[in-house]
Amino acid sequence: MPNDVDLAMDPRFYLVLHRIDRELAEETRAKGCPFCGGALHYATYRRAPRGGPEDLLE
Ligand SMILES: [Zn+2]
Repeated sequence: MPNDVDLAMDPRFYLVLHRIDRELAEETRAKGCPFCGGALHYATYRRAPRGGPEDLLE
């Protein structure tokens, strides 16, 4: 079993995190606003990650 440092330097780890993040975001967006039921709008901003593996994709 890889240790925490190995996992944090594996690009596949970030792909899985990104997939989970997108799924959770879509579930939340689909439910609409918890206060009024209206549409939840979103925007995709460029990220400026710090650290991580050298060969991580954009
Ligand atoms: Zn609302």
